[in-house]
Amino acid sequence: MVQRHDATRLHYDFRLELDGVFKSWAVTKTPSLDPAVKRLAVEVEDHPLDYGTFEGTIPKGQYGGGTVQLWDRGTWTPQTDTPERDLANGHLKILLRGERMKGKWALVRLRDRDVRPGRAVRHNWLLIKEIDEEADRAHPDALEKDITSVKTGRTLDEIARKSHAVWNSNREDGKPARAVRTAPKSVRSKKKMLRRPRTGMRAR
Ligand code: MN
Repeated sequence: MVQRHDATRLHYDFRLELDGVFKSWAVTKTPSLDPAVKRLAVEVEDHPLDYGTFEGTIPKGQYGGGTVQLWDRGTWTPQTDTPERDLANGHLKILLRGERMKGKWALVRLRDRDVRPGRAVRHNWLLIKEIDEEADRAHPDALEKDITSVKTGRTLDEIARKSHAVWNSNREDGKPARAVRTAPKSVRSKKKMLRRPRTGMRAR
């Protein structure tokens, strides 16, 4: 899943399902189809699987407050038999079958810099298109023209203006609380995706 997220800065939240969670990176620019162009991908917290199809708004003042658009979806396959180890080692090679991102890609972790005692380390990675028939050196920014949702066809503006879906992402002590989705009852009953939060998941 990739969510295009208009928060403090527009970015792409790239998520791979692994072992029951979404491993997640915030990619600061549109993924490029040119293998020579590397995109910074900042490792962020694992996200719950039921966030993966979310599209709507996160209230201002909460973690990631802004508008979320489902920008891509599909399946991924590791290029090796050891994706967990590759992830831990900072070099994960994957095959994507998304609606927009396709073919071979790699995530490569950079050496940590500026590590200060008592501060959480943000691991920086690079998201790189690998050379294959889906690579396009002549049109490195081709994915920039894709500005609509793969789920609803809406632009970010349309989602911001009309969306009833709200995701509460309150943090506690600097860590993300388990997110809870809330919506007015009428909306909840109409939209299948707006499931009731499970017991114990209510954000405080
Ligand atoms: Mn985000």
